[in-house]
Amino acid sequence: MEQPKPKNSYDVIVVGAGASGLIAAGRAAHLGAEVLLVEKMRQPGRKLLVTGKGRCNITHDAHQSVYYKNIYPNGRFLKHAFNTFFTADILDILHERGVETTTERGNRVFPVSNSARDVHKAITGWMGRKNIDTLYQARVVSLIIRDGMVTGIRSETGSGIGEYNGKSVIICTGGKSYPATGSTGDGYELARQAGHTISEVRPALVPLVTSGDIAGRLQGLGLKNVNAVVWVNGRKSAVEFGELMFAHYGLSGPIILTLSRRAVEELTAGNRVEIGIDLKPALDEKKLDARLLRDLDTHGKKQVENIFRLWLPSKLIPVFLDLLEIDNRKLCHQLSAKERRSILLLMKDFRFLVTGHPGYREAIITAGGIPTSEIDSRTMESKILKNLYFAGEVIDLDGNTGGFNLQIAFSTGYLAAQSCLS
Ligand SMILES: Cc1cc2nc3c(=O)[nH]c(=O)nc-3n(C[C@H](O)[C@H](O)[C@H](O)COP(=O)(O)OP(=O)(O)OC[C@H]3O[C@@H](n4cnc5c(N)ncnc54)[C@H](O)[C@@H]3O)c2cc1C
Repeated sequence: MEQPKPKNSYDVIVVGAGASGLIAAGRAAHLGAEVLLVEKMRQPGRKLLVTGKGRCNITHDAHQSVYYKNIYPNGRFLKHAFNTFFTADILDILHERGVETTTERGNRVFPVSNSARDVHKAITGWMGRKNIDTLYQARVVSLIIRDGMVTGIRSETGSGIGEYNGKSVIICTGGKSYPATGSTGDGYELARQAGHTISEVRPALVPLVTSGDIAGRLQGLGLKNVNAVVWVNGRKSAVEFGELMFAHYGLSGPIILTLSRRAVEELTAGNRVEIGIDLKPALDEKKLDARLLRDLDTHGKKQVENIFRLWLPSKLIPVFLDLLEIDNRKLCHQLSAKERRSILLLMKDFRFLVTGHPGYREAIITAGGIPTSEIDSRTMESKILKNLYFAGEVIDLDGNTGGFNLQIAFSTGYLAAQSCLS
């Protein structure tokens, strides 16, 4: 991409043109600042394009209090950022640029077109070009620090190292997840240069790898309205209700991603982690047993395999029959009480041993990062180094699925930009 030659000095240098960097650069430029936006990929917002499986779950339409419950480890840190720029503000930007949105189940907001590309186009269009020089395929490798304050950055391109002065620098480099989109954790190193500590960084909202071939046999099957329980060393540790999916390596889908926080934490601590799926959460054991008994009585002359069709999706049936070691030619009235009990137990607790996760390559988000205790929540400025600001996933904040993470990026990017100019 042809780029105009950048100047040597700017009011604001934004490092990283992802969700937070685009909003930060746009806000600073609209306030009249001369901005340099430096991005190491060929184009801005690569990750934005893959959000929500290409549909982009833009934000979560809910009160701030809901956000605090869904953001870890300290959602309240975002109070000022949310008071400055929240869900209605990002939606205004999109609506003004012709992107209609719709709120789906669970308050998740998507573009009506189901196209993350439309969101990307609207945000880059809103940012515009006035007052902004962009430098693509340029990786910021260090901060320039003089007299206890940041005064610029050094960036590396194919043709060598460039130095640029900035009255303020906003680090918007994201986390380490989906490194192919450009976020490889560089921001942590830049923050370290400034004297920051880094809270332990780890993949979050990540699928789980399970042992054995059962998940693989069920690959592609999705289950709705089930409970998934995390068992740690045999004790119930967390539960989520909703939708999950089987993959060739293990378990995925919304409730698994949410539970992955606990599962990864416990695995890292060396504990035995299992996921138990309750396929019939609406029925307690007594009610489920009555239902099984009734169906078996009514269909006494049918083969067991056929009666399972009343209870389970067809892909699960051969797996259940294998695990239960029940001969599928058996007739329903031939099933013993013991066999009925084992069917019930498997339906209520279909267990998988978790052995790992696919890491940053498949993690939606990175947990850990710059501790919020080292950033001023009213401005996003570093408490360690003057004129240095942070926005987005590089900060030690991560949300559940549902649009929380993009809203964090938008809100902190906006606040950082206007604070460094006030
Ligand atoms: C597959 C997937 C789906 C997702 N879906 C959703 C969703 O639907 N809704 C939601 O709310 N969240 C979603 N997320 C999370 C969300 O995309 C991120 O939280 C958000 O993009 C973070 O924004 P950011 O600006 O902090 O970082 P990023 O968007 O990752 O941007 C960081 C940018 O900095 C650049 N950069 C890094 N280092 C340097 C350097 N040294 N020099 C120059 N540039 C650098 C990178 O190339 C990148 O462009 C999803 C994430 C993934 C991986």
